[in-house]
Amino acid sequence: MTEKPASQAFWGGNPPRAVSEARFQKLFDEADAMSIQGYLPDGEVVYWNRASEHIYGYTADEALGRNLFDLIIPTDMRPDVEAAVRLMFETGQGILPGRLELKHKDGHRVPVYSNHTVVTVAGQSPVLFCMDTDMSALDQAEAELRIAATAFESQQGMLITDANGVILRVNQAFTCCNGYSAEESVGKTPRLLKSGRHSLEFYIEMWRSIIDTGAWHGEIWNKRQNGDIRADWVTITAVKDNKGDITHYVGTQTDITQRKEAEARILHLAFYDPLTRLPNRRLLLDRLQQAVAASLRQQIAGALLFIDIDHFKTLNDTLGHDVGDLLLQQVAERLSACIRENDTAARLGGDEFVVMLEYLSPNLQEAAGQAEAAGKKILASLSQPYKLRHHDYVGSVSIGVTMFPTLVSTTDELMKQADLAMYEAKAAGRNALRFFDPEMQAAVSLRAELVNGLRDALRKQQFRLYYQPQVDRNGQIVGAEALVRWDCPVHGMVSPAEFIPAAEDSGLILPLGAWVLETACLQLAAWANHPAAAKLTLAVNVSACQFGRADFVDQVIEIVSRTGANPHRLKLELTESLLVENVDEVIAKMTTLKARGIGFSLDDFGTGYSSLAYLRRLPLDQLKIDQSFVRDLLIDPNSVAIAKTIIVLSQAMSLSVIAEGVETEMQRVLLDSLGCHAFQGYLFSRPLPIERLDRLLLGGVSGN
Ligand code: C2E
Ligand code: CA
Ligand code: CA
Repeated sequence: MTEKPASQAFWGGNPPRAVSEARFQKLFDEADAMSIQGYLPDGEVVYWNRASEHIYGYTADEALGRNLFDLIIPTDMRPDVEAAVRLMFETGQGILPGRLELKHKDGHRVPVYSNHTVVTVAGQSPVLFCMDTDMSALDQAEAELRIAATAFESQQGMLITDANGVILRVNQAFTCCNGYSAEESVGKTPRLLKSGRHSLEFYIEMWRSIIDTGAWHGEIWNKRQNGDIRADWVTITAVKDNKGDITHYVGTQTDITQRKEAEARILHLAFYDPLTRLPNRRLLLDRLQQAVAASLRQQIAGALLFIDIDHFKTLNDTLGHDVGDLLLQQVAERLSACIRENDTAARLGGDEFVVMLEYLSPNLQEAAGQAEAAGKKILASLSQPYKLRHHDYVGSVSIGVTMFPTLVSTTDELMKQADLAMYEAKAAGRNALRFFDPEMQAAVSLRAELVNGLRDALRKQQFRLYYQPQVDRNGQIVGAEALVRWDCPVHGMVSPAEFIPAAEDSGLILPLGAWVLETACLQLAAWANHPAAAKLTLAVNVSACQFGRADFVDQVIEIVSRTGANPHRLKLELTESLLVENVDEVIAKMTTLKARGIGFSLDDFGTGYSSLAYLRRLPLDQLKIDQSFVRDLLIDPNSVAIAKTIIVLSQAMSLSVIAEGVETEMQRVLLDSLGCHAFQGYLFSRPLPIERLDRLLLGGVSGN
């Protein structure tokens, strides 16, 4: 027995003709991929399979019996198609298979690949069979390929690897960017570009993302062929087949080094001091906040060191700002060299620096020891000689230290505490280090309370002016010194010794001083109408910061003229401390006021350190011997010598002289014998409210 060929087996041997026909009919009818239509010579549709329904939109029922040319031949093709069809039927000559664009029921064109054949069966009309394959999907796929190919050759560097990461293709931009040609890249892996700057964890994280989400994007430092290391923005996308298995990876790469550099520059400007390149205040505060939070969490101490260059202003004024800048830069370098990698050295501005130490011992005592050691190292380093251009300079700094964490301290408070401790260090003679301690804090809080109280007192008019008589050698009252008091509802009458310094620091001395001057001038104006008081002079204390204001002279003139006070009866008490400022300006101001008749007395004389050369140039009227010398006259020969010198000096300069703080008759007699004939002190009277002074001046002369 011979074996049947496989095809015969499939077709089931030689079937009867009808069976075979039925099979072919079914095959034709249901061939999904190929549209088959049959036409009579006049174009009438006699066969229309299922695929034709799909491709051209007409059901077999709609198509059968209608004419080819009405159905799927576009009007413009009609003459050609008619001629070709006629030729086929007449000569049997086939039309070459080829692409056509025929018409769908809804009007759109359908690209097809068309085959034709004329089937002639004896006794029947010949039929033209057209077999069309829809090309739409293929066309679209081709277009997509073209798009993909164009996209692949874009500006971005691109590479495609297989599932194992072996490079299959790279584009032109990839070669441009990295330097590797396609030949040099294909067959390698992207490790070709590895810069060595990323940790293993980085790559693990990246692959986890690709596996979990099918993609990753981020910044990678890549190495170019020429060895440059550049920052790239990279995306990696997994390509999967229809089973969901990864077949390829597509990577894109954009060089963002320039952008990153610009970003870094901007960041640097925002967070670093341009002169010293140290972190600036903003960055320091940011790091401090994090450090404080971390120290609270981990129970590890840190320290904040406030560093201020001693006498920086003098250096700046004498050698110029350029040299000052050089010093700041060198200080910054030395500071950076003094600290560990985890610590921060920052410049707050001016000559103020801050060092923040982190990760000190959890034992606060020990941590303070570490901070002190670091501070001392800084002190030592910064007091080494500096070479500033051709100047050899020896400088020093003062350092204030505060520790953290404490349960209550905010970054703001820590900065204040370290600043405060720094001032203590300065007060201790500079080139020193001081720790902040809570007592210091208490004093500061008290001061803040006091300033608030004073502000309130101004608003509520709780200030009073007292008057302490000044007498001549006969005990006759010749004038008075106005002394301010705070009539506090809580603390009673508060002495100015307690609040004037706070008023000066806070600037409240300006409104307060104006009030004192105005009240005193009103009093002078009132006295002018009473014979017993009309000749009295009134001394008013003026703080250096008050006098230093540009508008001080105008203010005095305005108040004097508005109140109608006689300027010749007004005497301003100045202290030597105001000579620290520009002496020429001081002289100019005094001269202007003096021209209006106003007099000047130099208060607390002998306690300051004004040079006699300056003193001689001031348009003064009076020197006031400080009460400390008067107090010690009888026990300290030195005080006698000083008092005597002042008196001689006043005579030499044709100034009057007055002694304050005279409490005993012995003091008065001694001063009188030395040549001082004007006195003020408890021996004669304490400072009095105006009613009591008036009574003293012959029973109520004042109209006030
Ligand atoms: P000062 O100008 O040296 O005023 C003299 C101070 O000595 C006054 O203290 C006065 O009460 C006190 N005093 C007078 N005689 C005697 C005495 O015999 N023995 C003793 N131990 N002390 C005597 P006060 O009133 O407490 O003023 C203290 C300081 O406050 C003043 O010192 C002055 O510097 C400042 N001050 C007072 N009023 C004003 C003001 O209106 N403006 C400014 N800027 N400062 C003022
Ligand atoms: Ca005074
Ligand atoms: Ca005084």
